[in-house]
Amino acid sequence: MDLGLQGRGALVCAASRGLGRACAFALAREGVAVTIVARGREALEATAAEIRAATGVAVTTVVADIATTDGRAAALAACPAPDILVNNAGGPPPGDFRDWSRDDWIKALDANMLTPIELIKATVDGMMARRFGRIVNITSAAVKAPIDVLGLSNGARSGLTGFVAGLARKTVAHNVTINNLLPGFFDTDRIRAVVGGQAKAKGVSYEEALAERVATIPAGRIGDPAEFGAACAWLCSAQAGYISGQNWLLDGGAYPGTF
Ligand code: NAD
Repeated sequence: MDLGLQGRGALVCAASRGLGRACAFALAREGVAVTIVARGREALEATAAEIRAATGVAVTTVVADIATTDGRAAALAACPAPDILVNNAGGPPPGDFRDWSRDDWIKALDANMLTPIELIKATVDGMMARRFGRIVNITSAAVKAPIDVLGLSNGARSGLTGFVAGLARKTVAHNVTINNLLPGFFDTDRIRAVVGGQAKAKGVSYEEALAERVATIPAGRIGDPAEFGAACAWLCSAQAGYISGQNWLLDGGAYPGTF
């Protein structure tokens, strides 16, 4: 299936590793020139080189913290009028809500709610004027089924989800869609670190801790980031213009509800 994206341009945030990287890769395979943002230069340049070698598309790198005003300005200076915006940033740490200060909440809100909203604000009017735009926010399965220790994430991402639900109904008439992708359990550096921590805490091997977690997933395995990237690319396709304001769960069937 030709996704009709050849020659488009995308700004993909937090894309040197993991799910953001997979989205950038999948878009590049469809002929989309990608601007990728991450904080560390080394991993970002390595990812850019791999994408260029595999796809031949133009890849621009921006070393920046997307959760800061300066970081967003640098990303937008490099890619001022994207056709596609993939919002992503690291998730907040786990913990007990009694220990979280106002600053902890502000950090989570900045990274996982206000940064995507600011980037949407900076790009959506241009997309509507050009009559094509695809905005994908990487959120979390925790938006649908909260994870108790991830209260900062549950709260901040739900705020973004609520905001987007309203805006997505305004933009779609201009062929600009806004949707959220909700990852369940994907094989990324972040998840490997989480599983490693759980293994240490329980005094079991990494493989044992992973198997315990995977046993809760009907698919019987961890997700491959490439699957996530492919879903993102399709949601950005020319054919997906009638889908807006949706929360698409990619979790191997783990969410137990009918809807
Ligand atoms: P990861 O740690 O493997 O990769 C994160 C990437 O984002 C890296 O390239 C890192 O450099 C970059 N990054 C992080 N914060 C940044 C910032 N402020 N500015 C610029 N770059 C930044 O993580 P991942 O597993 O790919 O997760 C991506 C998002 O999805 C996170 O918000 C995470 O909480 C969420 N999530 C992931 C899973 C999963 O299964 N992997 C599940 C639920 C939610």
